[in-house]
Amino acid sequence: MTREVHKFGGASVRDADAVRNVGRILADVARADVGLAVVVSAMGKTTNAMESVWSALPQGEAAIPAVERVRRFHAGILDGLSMPWSVLEKDWALFEDTLAAWKGQAADDRGYDALVGFGERFSTRIVHAHLAALGLPVEWVSAWELIVTDAGHRAARVDLEETRNRVVQRMSMGTGALYLTQGFVGGTLDGTPTTLGREGSDFSGALLAEALDAERLVVWKDVSGVMTGDPRRWPPARRIERLDYG
Ligand code: ASP
Ligand code: MG
Repeated sequence: MTREVHKFGGASVRDADAVRNVGRILADVARADVGLAVVVSAMGKTTNAMESVWSALPQGEAAIPAVERVRRFHAGILDGLSMPWSVLEKDWALFEDTLAAWKGQAADDRGYDALVGFGERFSTRIVHAHLAALGLPVEWVSAWELIVTDAGHRAARVDLEETRNRVVQRMSMGTGALYLTQGFVGGTLDGTPTTLGREGSDFSGALLAEALDAERLVVWKDVSGVMTGDPRRWPPARRIERLDYG
């Protein structure tokens, strides 16, 4: 049996069609002889929107329009997938409780980590519901309890050993297993949410791949690999076939 980790970034889940595409890819990759762990980040530009919510926190009510934008965006994607709002109901309630707890307070880094990572939770709940509807045996895992970090909020350092222990314990990776978790977020030993830094979801994927001793980590992109430039802005950009770590 082989083990694989697949990571999908924000662009890969930016709307209902993109989520359907992820479903097609995973239905294709899931085979009886492979154990899969899947990392998904927040949908589209949600993390930027969550940062707006966070920075409006000190002004209390000022955060409401940004919260409403986040709600409407996800409700629209659920609609596009013909799924009910109840998919997000629990996490949305938790998000509102967290907002209420932080409203009117200084927008510090701990508050950032308490709030911004909800983008990944919403995203993975929606993808989970979609994969389950396709009949895939998907299990949702909270990265708050999976990726163990210090309390260096917004740039937390990962405790590799404890993370490896938890991943191995939580993801048995038996035949046909399909685990789905959030990129970018982690939590301290006492359960306080943290984040790994912007664009941190690729790193989350690498952490899982290492912990699970996976054969490969596949980072799905809207381009065919690491390129010499952004092909939308610079058409001669070409793919780099091999890159060393340095
Ligand atoms: N959602 C986070 C960000 O936009 C993490 C990631 O996508 O890698 O930075
Ligand atoms: Mg990204």
